[in-house]
Amino acid sequence: MSLTQFGPVYSGRASAVRAGEVVLSLVASGLVGMRGWAGVRRLQHPYDRSLQLGLDRLAALCVRAGSSPPVGVADLVGVWCAERPLDSWPLEFDPDAQVGGERLLIGGEPSEFCLEWAVAARDVVSEVHESALVKHIKDTAALLGRPELYAQWRLFVTEHAVLGPEEFLVAKNAVLDVPQWATWMEESYGPVTAEASAGGRVAVCGGCGQWIVPRADGRVRCRVWRCAQRHDLPEPDRVQARGARRLEPELVRFVALPGRPELDLARRLAARGARVVLYPKLDALDLVAVWPGGHSIGVDVKDWHSPYLLARRIKTFPNWGAGDPHAYRKGYLVVPRDRLRANRSYMRILAQRSEALKAQPQIEVVCDDDLVASCPDLGTAGEVVCGP
Ligand SMILES: [Zn+2]
Repeated sequence: MSLTQFGPVYSGRASAVRAGEVVLSLVASGLVGMRGWAGVRRLQHPYDRSLQLGLDRLAALCVRAGSSPPVGVADLVGVWCAERPLDSWPLEFDPDAQVGGERLLIGGEPSEFCLEWAVAARDVVSEVHESALVKHIKDTAALLGRPELYAQWRLFVTEHAVLGPEEFLVAKNAVLDVPQWATWMEESYGPVTAEASAGGRVAVCGGCGQWIVPRADGRVRCRVWRCAQRHDLPEPDRVQARGARRLEPELVRFVALPGRPELDLARRLAARGARVVLYPKLDALDLVAVWPGGHSIGVDVKDWHSPYLLARRIKTFPNWGAGDPHAYRKGYLVVPRDRLRANRSYMRILAQRSEALKAQPQIEVVCDDDLVASCPDLGTAGEVVCGP
């Protein structure tokens, strides 16, 4: 192997797959990044630069494949992304990427498939996948020697999508000995905008608990995958919009929605008697739990549609010594059962594609229900806490 070679060496097919993934990532992040997204028909300039970059690369690959490229951004967004599944694009993909039947836009909004590829694109350019606010809160909590404040903030925003004026005041004053807490709340919650409300009310989903932007026809239907699957989704709550605050969209996507299955698992383990610590050591793991009887586990919950993309994001589990307050005996990567039900190849793709899992064979991949069932239930409730 030549020492001057940087990065992996791609064969012809691997480089074609790589080129396809770059186009997909660029277009997906362009769609997600479009400001003032108002649906395909009202596509406005300026659109995200990565959309244009994706279009240029796609056009070049189309020409090489002898097929007609999109004629512009409107065609790319309105026809290719909205109507054509990815397997009909003249690109090569790895079979494990499971692009068959997937569209980037559904009902004029980025699909879950699209959102995950957009996140993957951030990794491509190695941007830190964390908002400035999240980083600031982590840093401040560390500086104050109060890492549990970060867990407490995270727990709060995951559980509160919309706050009325009085609730917001209470939230700001929840941690009086830490003046920064009020600022974190100010920055986590913005005013409810006109397009996020209808008839003076803002809708909050009865499934995921997040606020929902009404569609152009005024209907309200949550697009979060788990909610869209449910036939028994409760009617949304309608909260007075005047004076209310709603969680910032970026925190909805990257903190609150992923936080739901984490919190759900924590509560189910606690109901069986476990003592569960959320986000120990500034999120080094999602939770550490001590079961009744003393067995301890460290858990990362991963709620991803695509096992192919998830495989790249699995991290190395921390190894804490026996004297550490968060030491655990066994590590688990937990995938919600409905993800596995929806995709029979999920576990196989994860096992074959994740370098982190291959490097740590002691980490077990399990579904949430199985992990909960393996926790002994002695009939006494445990607790969910934010610090040791
Ligand atoms: Zn929902």
